[in-house]
Amino acid sequence: MSTIITGGEKFEARVPFLIIGAGAAGLCAALAAKEASVEAVVIERDAVPAGSTALSAGLIPAAATRFQRAKGISDSAQTLAADIQRKAHGEADGAVVEAVAENSAPLIEWLSDRYDFPFDVVDNFNYPGHAALRMHGLPSRTGLELIDRLRSAVETNDIVIATERAAERLIVGAGGKIEGVEMVRGDGAIERLGCDALLLACNGYGGNPALVRRFIPEMADALYFGHPGNQGDAVIWGEALGAKLAHLGGYQGHGSVATPHNILITWAVIMQGGIQINGEGKRFCDETRGYSEQAAQVLHQPGKVAWNIFDERIATVARQFEDFQNAERAGAIVWADSIAALARTLHVPEAALLDEWNEAVSLKARSGRDHYGRQFAAEQRCEPPFCAVKVTGALFHTQGGLAIDARGRVIRNDGTVFPNLFAAGGAAAGVSGSTAAGYLSGNGLLTATVLGRIAGQAAAEQIFRVAAS
Ligand SMILES: Cc1cc2nc3c(=O)[nH]c(=O)nc-3n(C[C@H](O)[C@H](O)[C@H](O)COP(=O)(O)OP(=O)(O)OC[C@H]3O[C@@H](n4cnc5c(N)ncnc54)[C@H](O)[C@@H]3O)c2cc1C
Repeated sequence: MSTIITGGEKFEARVPFLIIGAGAAGLCAALAAKEASVEAVVIERDAVPAGSTALSAGLIPAAATRFQRAKGISDSAQTLAADIQRKAHGEADGAVVEAVAENSAPLIEWLSDRYDFPFDVVDNFNYPGHAALRMHGLPSRTGLELIDRLRSAVETNDIVIATERAAERLIVGAGGKIEGVEMVRGDGAIERLGCDALLLACNGYGGNPALVRRFIPEMADALYFGHPGNQGDAVIWGEALGAKLAHLGGYQGHGSVATPHNILITWAVIMQGGIQINGEGKRFCDETRGYSEQAAQVLHQPGKVAWNIFDERIATVARQFEDFQNAERAGAIVWADSIAALARTLHVPEAALLDEWNEAVSLKARSGRDHYGRQFAAEQRCEPPFCAVKVTGALFHTQGGLAIDARGRVIRNDGTVFPNLFAAGGAAAGVSGSTAAGYLSGNGLLTATVLGRIAGQAAAEQIFRVAAS
């Protein structure tokens, strides 16, 4: 079946602004459009909006917020933009990076002031590549809380989320103008909804094995840890429409998913001084470069697994995440009074693990750097008892997608923009460049929330402009 229909369709109804996908991007866009007095309707395949947003830790990086100032943290949009580009090896679109960095603090303060989101800054550990403490999270440190609060804000503002509707085909008129969308309801009935502007907020292609194999072969056989509904519809429609696709090899991986429990173990366990070893008891790289590129590193180890080794001080930091508490309840964290005893419990070679651990202890004592380039620090010292969790590498979400401009407008192959088509979040090309190593922690929700809001504002302006002409 074709993925787009060329015009001439009859619509059951018509709305000004149609949004496909009720994740963070779609719901932020709907709120922004409503504030600009434009009616938005969000269509969502699932019965209850969740998406990858609900699976995330809900942490959004933002620079120069009042929450940072209250804790004496100095930061700027320019520093955040530089951090994003450094991690992306300069591959990210400069205008989009600038837009997300500059609008990150306004986004957090908007959700906080207007919709009562109780954000605070994570200040007891930092993620790789961020020059300042700038991860803003909700009390539970879960994406479920983020999506539930967004949904409740949307519902309180009388914005319709039409659930159990899967968008299947875009209906396209002259000049690439989107006329509407054909969707399938949960009961199998087909509906066609017309619109003045369309936002694709249906995330990427992590849940589509064929597209993962095509664009990210290194993760073709990896555990996919994102939402199964991320089927790559935006990329499929975009290809059919002649949209420019960018950075399709980029993705957010994670090298620390407890196995076989399938629970995310926060990277705080590494950044606070833990190490990661393989089944031979050996470290295999500088773990602090980033959790995203670490996914493939772990998958290259024997049995595609590794162990994070740390202590009670670090576990206390990790316990701020519900996921970590769940991992403890599930028995994923094992404890021992000494590193030698831990090696025996894990069935890894005792001498090799002791060598690695002792080297790390000595590097910490003199704040030294190891041969992989990892910098250790004195305050990262660990004390017995020690603990370990067996982890594997996973694909969290894809970062490639539709090329957009700084207002979320989708760009054609010839460089012009479509008249009324927008994309945000995982549906659009992110700011991480073309590899997993380009993903700076938080790029996912940063682009979903900030670009979702920007695209909602831009779509509203465009609808008014066309109505006035
Ligand atoms: C385990 C995990 C942890 C993460 N932690 C973080 C973090 O702490 N910080 C961070 O920045 N990022 C994190 N991420 C990434 C982040 O979750 C995503 O980048 C972000 O949620 C994307 O938001 P979105 O709105 O684009 O997509 P989603 O939240 O996935 O929403 C897309 C929605 O579109 C719907 N949909 C798809 N296709 C259709 C269709 N054809 N018709 C109708 N509906 C459709 C889906 O059902 C879904 O509800 C994490 C990801 C994972 C998996």
